[in-house]
Amino acid sequence: MIKDKLYIGIDLGGTFIKGGVVSNKGQLLYSTQIETQAEKGPDKVTENIIKLINNLIKNFSSNKEDFCGVGIGVPGIVNSEKGIAVCSHNLKFDNFPIAEKIEREVSMPVKIANDANLAALGESLFGFSNGCKNVVMLTLGTGVGGGAIINGTMLEGNKSAGAEFGHSVIVFNGNKCNCGRKGCLESYVSATALIKKTKEEMLKNKSSKMWQVGSVENVNGKTAFNFKDIDKTAKKIVEEYINYLSCGVINIVNVFRPEVVVLGGGISNQGESLFKPLQKIVDKEMFASKHTPKVKIVAAKLGNNAGVLGSVGLFEN
Ligand SMILES: [Zn+2]
Repeated sequence: MIKDKLYIGIDLGGTFIKGGVVSNKGQLLYSTQIETQAEKGPDKVTENIIKLINNLIKNFSSNKEDFCGVGIGVPGIVNSEKGIAVCSHNLKFDNFPIAEKIEREVSMPVKIANDANLAALGESLFGFSNGCKNVVMLTLGTGVGGGAIINGTMLEGNKSAGAEFGHSVIVFNGNKCNCGRKGCLESYVSATALIKKTKEEMLKNKSSKMWQVGSVENVNGKTAFNFKDIDKTAKKIVEEYINYLSCGVINIVNVFRPEVVVLGGGISNQGESLFKPLQKIVDKEMFASKHTPKVKIVAAKLGNNAGVLGSVGLFEN
């Protein structure tokens, strides 16, 4: 019997570094995490990653020879070819040769990629889109992250700075975005944007049933969805939200024509009430819809483990 190959997957976050032992078949065999300590600078963060890798090895098998490599998802701009964390504000990376530094300490190959790209790779390999060669992922969270696998390869662009679907404009001169432009998809469909819109509409509509949450401080990304069947303000917010999201999704579909679009982040847990109307609009409005196969829109399957599992794809592709 051929033994599964084992990898170590690391997802470097602002607060925690998550790590896991992953097989080439996408099984997460063991996982643990450690505090990032981002405020102490890149050298300390690197030290913590090394500590986490050694913990994973020790607790899982105690034999370094069992592992084929380490894949790390790094936030911000990443030069994946050279293993350099080019720029990440939260983690204070500034052209930091992170892969080389870790490789020296752990004596096995280390590869890095942008964290959102790596999550998309994980979903394409081991999520619902398993087996599809063209997969685009959008993560609807504080911002809107993105990643694309095209013809089985992670689309990174020059210096891995591409695939930023959240910063494509859907409303010319529209809402101000964190990136400096106006009207980006992110400024309409991130959880942050949905929460802001819900609060604004509640303040305009004092009779809205959404006030049952108490105050606007208690509003979250679920509020409008929770009340949409009994409150017309909430219904309007949800409809508008889905219209904006469909616009962004169709733009992406028309450029890349994936088999599957994966939606991640908290909002993707809304199930049918989000996916059904969204799928309907995309089916109708995407280019050449009558003559081409459907593009399936699905919720992410791997949750917070997508990046850790995606690390396998950095080696096995
Ligand atoms: Zn933007």
